[in-house]
Amino acid sequence: MAKNYYDILGVSKDATQEEIKKAYRKIALKYHPDKNPGNKEAEEKFKEAAEAYAVLSDKEKRAKYDQYGEEGLKNSGFSGFGGGGMTMEDIFSQFSDIFGGAFRGQGSSFSDFFGGSSRQRVRKGSDLRIRIPLTLEEIYSGTKKSIKVRHYQECPTCQGTGAEPGYGTKTCSLCHGSGEIRERVGSFLGQMVNIRTCPNCHGEGTIIDKPCQKCRGEGRVKVESKVDVEIPRGVSDGNYMTIKGKGNVEPRGGIPGDLIVEFYEQEHPIFTRQGNDIYITVVITWPQAVLGDEITVPTLSGNVSLKIPPGIRSGKILRLRKKGMPNLHGSHYGDELIKLQVETPKELTKEERELITRLKELYRNQKIKIEKYK
Ligand SMILES: [Zn+2]
Ligand SMILES: [Zn+2]
Repeated sequence: MAKNYYDILGVSKDATQEEIKKAYRKIALKYHPDKNPGNKEAEEKFKEAAEAYAVLSDKEKRAKYDQYGEEGLKNSGFSGFGGGGMTMEDIFSQFSDIFGGAFRGQGSSFSDFFGGSSRQRVRKGSDLRIRIPLTLEEIYSGTKKSIKVRHYQECPTCQGTGAEPGYGTKTCSLCHGSGEIRERVGSFLGQMVNIRTCPNCHGEGTIIDKPCQKCRGEGRVKVESKVDVEIPRGVSDGNYMTIKGKGNVEPRGGIPGDLIVEFYEQEHPIFTRQGNDIYITVVITWPQAVLGDEITVPTLSGNVSLKIPPGIRSGKILRLRKKGMPNLHGSHYGDELIKLQVETPKELTKEERELITRLKELYRNQKIKIEKYK
């Protein structure tokens, strides 16, 4: 079943060249391989639109197509759908015409089409960075956060072209669409070529007939978006997530940058984290240290009971296995380490004073031990 080029671009049979160009631009951006990685269907739509545009943007081909349909094109050397007639190279070579500045290669801010198989690149907007504070409890169980980001999006009125609907763009007469001005400069080293951004079109390569009123011709608007972030368990300070397409769009469209969400750990009132282990200090009484006891201590998963062996020294560290933080994949847990500190009372009741005085007398003959400093 033959497909209809006009239907593919969503334009009427009497569409103007400007309407065809605009329609194609919109479809090419929507199904762009960078926006739809690994999506075969999008790639097909992308190629299909390129073929439709190749025909309808060419006066001669369009006339033949209107008169004889696809058959008419076969005789003119155009192989049409599925015939492998248009390669990605062909598609990209159209782009400087359609997109002007938006599709000129400009170093690392451009992401490769199809893993660098082509020299043509698409302009990617800047990434946004945001830092989210997390409590240790949130890190322990994993959490969801709704964050608000202010970023540049493609202008909905002009679809990023910067032109008021109904008006078109024309190639810059000063730089002839390249966006650059090359000047030969004589110097003592010989002839040099000086390249600077075209002052007439500011490097865009195109001039807008009438700027879009909503975006003042910039092709993008600043909006506030709500982004839901699912934060996995066990993240650490400095870990980050990349949320595709939630960054900024450059003026005159292209592919939006990403939102980079970085996590940082908030200071906890009692727990200290080191790797996946959690540390706390528990102050016990002197009789508890001497006689031993069973106490309740907090962990990230609630209170647990802890046995203090008799005769424990102040500064001793007890370990609760697997009561620490999960690792990033949640397959393994750290420990909780509890440092015991024996409290020396300063204020005593009459009864306590009598008992401790009695003890002191019993200890009268015990010598003071001297040990190496540690
Ligand atoms: Zn606009
Ligand atoms: Zn120019």
